[in-house]
Amino acid sequence: MRRKLAAGNWKMNGLRSSLDELDALAKAHPDPDCDLLICPPATLIAAAVDRCQGGPLRIGGQTCHMNMEGPHTGDISAQMLRDVGATAVILGHSERRADHGESSEDVRTLAQMAQAAGLQTVICVGESQFQREATNTLDIIGAQLSLSIPDSSTGENLVVAYEPIWAIGTGQIPTADQIGEVHDFIRARLEQRFGYGVGKSVRLLYGGSVKADNAQEIFGISNVDGALVGGASLTAKDFSPIIEALEASALPADS
Ligand code: PEP
Repeated sequence: MRRKLAAGNWKMNGLRSSLDELDALAKAHPDPDCDLLICPPATLIAAAVDRCQGGPLRIGGQTCHMNMEGPHTGDISAQMLRDVGATAVILGHSERRADHGESSEDVRTLAQMAQAAGLQTVICVGESQFQREATNTLDIIGAQLSLSIPDSSTGENLVVAYEPIWAIGTGQIPTADQIGEVHDFIRARLEQRFGYGVGKSVRLLYGGSVKADNAQEIFGISNVDGALVGGASLTAKDFSPIIEALEASALPADS
């Protein structure tokens, strides 16, 4: 049984006062039926870990460097994230791929380092609008999966997030059939590459304009084990109903 996961990506948002949102989330979900992960900006990670000690929230980074230490001004390594208490890191987000030219090969190297440092890696894949219209989306996703995911991946240290670029922050989301098609494809590819047991145990998140009013439908789609949420993860008020929808989807239908 895969445990559901609600992950929040705060991107370049959040000041120290934003940590109050973590308290509010922890208070609203003291014993959730899913895992909860918040990835705040690097400046808040250590303080967020302290705030969340003993509670239901885990804290992660939004990227890391491909070396563990050295002359890389402004960068942060996987072992530094682990050292301050982060348990996970988002890698290959489309904004990193676009703003920092990260290729899928780069993402695989980052993921190797992060997994070696003991972090869970949330590896993002997704097609652009142009790619969806002009080519076969599954070919794009298939290439990103094989190039971005390292061989060191397991059911514990790998989470894959399907984030169509055209759905991020736009309010536009794919149809349930489109999401299901890609998630079933990702599952099949993972099973082929890592074997049935490992492939089955990797959690697959959908990301892109998840909100309270579409969460229930998204969480009902096959092979959707949770969500990677941007804008709606910034406040407990917006994130809480998404978590509730995920918890409800995790319960057996007759309960
Ligand atoms: C994201 O950037 O990971 C994301 C899913 O953003 P949003 O939920 O705001 O579309």
